[in-house]
Amino acid sequence: MNVLVTGGAGYIGSHTVVELINAGHNAIIVDDLSNAKADVVDRIQTITGTRPVFYELDCKNIDGLRSVFSAHKIDAIIHFAAFKAVGESVKKPLQYYRNNLDSTFALLEVMEEFGCKKFIFSSSATVYGPNNPHPYKEEMPAIQSSSPYGWTKVMIERILTDYVTAHPDFCAVLLRYFNPIGAHESGLLGDDPNGIPNNLMPYIGRVAAGQLEKLTIFGGDYPTPDGTCQRDYLHVVDLAVGHLKALEFAKDREGAEAINLGTGNGISVLELVNAFNKANDMDLPYVIGPRRDGDLPAFWADAEKAKNLLGWEATHTVEDMCRSAWQFAKNAGK
Ligand code: UDP
Repeated sequence: MNVLVTGGAGYIGSHTVVELINAGHNAIIVDDLSNAKADVVDRIQTITGTRPVFYELDCKNIDGLRSVFSAHKIDAIIHFAAFKAVGESVKKPLQYYRNNLDSTFALLEVMEEFGCKKFIFSSSATVYGPNNPHPYKEEMPAIQSSSPYGWTKVMIERILTDYVTAHPDFCAVLLRYFNPIGAHESGLLGDDPNGIPNNLMPYIGRVAAGQLEKLTIFGGDYPTPDGTCQRDYLHVVDLAVGHLKALEFAKDREGAEAINLGTGNGISVLELVNAFNKANDMDLPYVIGPRRDGDLPAFWADAEKAKNLLGWEATHTVEDMCRSAWQFAKNAGK
């Protein structure tokens, strides 16, 4: 298939492009490089031996998208491109709603013009909101969130579902990610955010590399076994493979389907820090600080639906995630 990957130079997007190419698909990347580096395309070529087509383009640029769809017969799209910093979204709600919603509208409009009917969407476990019990199951109400970023995911899921109601021959797969961490085994691709990282593993990587002094664990008094938050961390390569499986699923299907991509296991921040130390023979400096606004104590996925519908299951261990994350972080920025 010819697969348009928006945000294909980003963390999850780049790993997905590698898996698409390895499976024999043609990947066409659209990325405005607002939170990614152009040399990711070279790195994908080094890993796969194939250079994906790359357009430096903002997905809100509808004429730009038309040119891409005119140049390639696009069979499906995987839509990663979005602003994703939870805290920043609270301070800049308009930018977040404008960017994340408008890019989706532009894509859907151009897809309709060109008769493309397969849409894989990068959603998030944040759509389960603060009130559902864990493990999260897809049939639970997913109509809540705690940040403008999260609300854009809720809204886009809704937009895609309504679009499918109006166009029953369209297929939208809403992939609800849990906490992807880790990096490609080559050490060439990984999570390398601009500025000081917000997410746990890239922050750990910078501390391990000596670029940041110590990790602050947000909260040690949660109602969890060791007092720190529990999350469902999964290896980014497993997540990328999940997209490939979703694409194969969507190929001969119609309708909208929400599917969790997680391991089904929760581990705490402290357990992850200890696993990182053990896997990489380190002793990471950390302090326990105050809670971060908006963090939930604990959640993880019910991963059965992905197994049953997509034939997908996470295969990498926490040790794999920690080792590969460090492998990448020690070389990042050099
Ligand atoms: N966290 C932390 N220190 C940091 C960054 C994150 O203790 O510097 C914790 C955070 O409170 C949460 C977990 O790590 O419990 C995962 O946070 P992240 O931002 O990576 O993902 P989220 O689950 O918020 O999407």
